[in-house]
Amino acid sequence: MATPAEALQLILDQVAPLPAVRLPLSEALGLAAAEDLHSTAQVPPFTNSAMDGYALRAADLATATPATPVRLRVLGDLAAGAIPTCAVGSGEALRIMTGAPLPEGADTVVPVEQTLRGEGWVDVLHLLRPGLHIRHAGEDLQLGQRLVAAGHRLRPGDIGALAAAGLAVLPCHPRARVAVLTTGDELVDVSEQPGPGRIRDANIHALCAQVAASGAQPMPFPRVPDEPATLLRVLEEAAGADMILTTGGISVGDYDFMKRMLEELGARRVFWKVAQKPGGPLGFWMLGAKPVFGIPGNPVAAMLMFEEYVRPALRQLMGYANRHRPVAEAALEGGWSGKVGDGRTTFLRVVARREDGRLKARLTGPQGSAILSSMLLANALAVIPAGVDRIEPGGPVTLHLTEENEDH
Ligand code: AMP
Ligand code: MG
Repeated sequence: MATPAEALQLILDQVAPLPAVRLPLSEALGLAAAEDLHSTAQVPPFTNSAMDGYALRAADLATATPATPVRLRVLGDLAAGAIPTCAVGSGEALRIMTGAPLPEGADTVVPVEQTLRGEGWVDVLHLLRPGLHIRHAGEDLQLGQRLVAAGHRLRPGDIGALAAAGLAVLPCHPRARVAVLTTGDELVDVSEQPGPGRIRDANIHALCAQVAASGAQPMPFPRVPDEPATLLRVLEEAAGADMILTTGGISVGDYDFMKRMLEELGARRVFWKVAQKPGGPLGFWMLGAKPVFGIPGNPVAAMLMFEEYVRPALRQLMGYANRHRPVAEAALEGGWSGKVGDGRTTFLRVVARREDGRLKARLTGPQGSAILSSMLLANALAVIPAGVDRIEPGGPVTLHLTEENEDH
């Protein structure tokens, strides 16, 4: 049986990023850049005014004070988007708006608030350091400058800089389409009142939400009964996606057909079972280049498996350089005790908070693999290594910070 670390490595060894596509900038948010991206222009493209005011020569203002203003002749108006048609000489000024190109001869802009305006003239009330309120060509971004590294997840701020730098179309790894299948004769839709022996299908919603939260596109499939022929047919259909996730039917029950049907379809088994609680019977296959996860049906186990194994794989598939959540040490208030001797790593749902500069965590409630209420408050997973059966109150635990962006 693979340890959690081994299982993750086995998965990441198999998953290759989806081939890059060239996408319009408007579709790139949240995707990974497929290459280093460089500016195709200098920004700003020309030297321009940073204020609404007057473009002038700072040397003219040597004697300016509120009591002895310097009067300059105003040559005209220049709006943003217009081009200056005259140069500014000594004793002259051009009224200029923010973003308008600096006219030749001017070296400084005085903000309108520091002036008094007349008919054809302006009084400047203060002297100014030469070069003030001017934005120089290329002072923000230079032509050829690297803006974003390959594998970086594009955020709104990146999109803005890329737009200013002229990257209308850019190479990205596409949003992965993830088929999500839930299996079980007992399952009914969330909108239905479950009849005797039936329960609502929590996994289809939980897993699709996790897929979407990972930046990928979920493709929910209709629930699959515990019936081999139907399962095989749905799996064939799901093979059109970039990744397949199934829940249920992966254990050793009489109606657990998932392994057999995946292999009948031609999927190559990489491993089945991870030495962990909750969620042991996770299986991972490759169907050609397509990763396939067979996830156990218990809802908490399923979500935890997604968090620990599917999400890193999905990030690798989508070309993100960083695949792992931040890890931190915390004091486990209240401690924990469990069974030793089964060689399994235990994952505990905890709520972590910072207090006096230290991270403290406590269990969110009962930790059974079907206890969804423990997910409501959780913002981290505490990882208890195999062989540890006890954490004293306040003792140290390692956390995976599941609400924070991947940082490594
Ligand atoms: P299985 O992995 O199919 O043996 O299912 C294990 C447990 O998880 C059983 O109690 C199932 O009823 C439950 N379960 C399986 N699939 C789902 C689902 N989609 N939503 C909620 N519970 C499920
Ligand atoms: Mg089942």
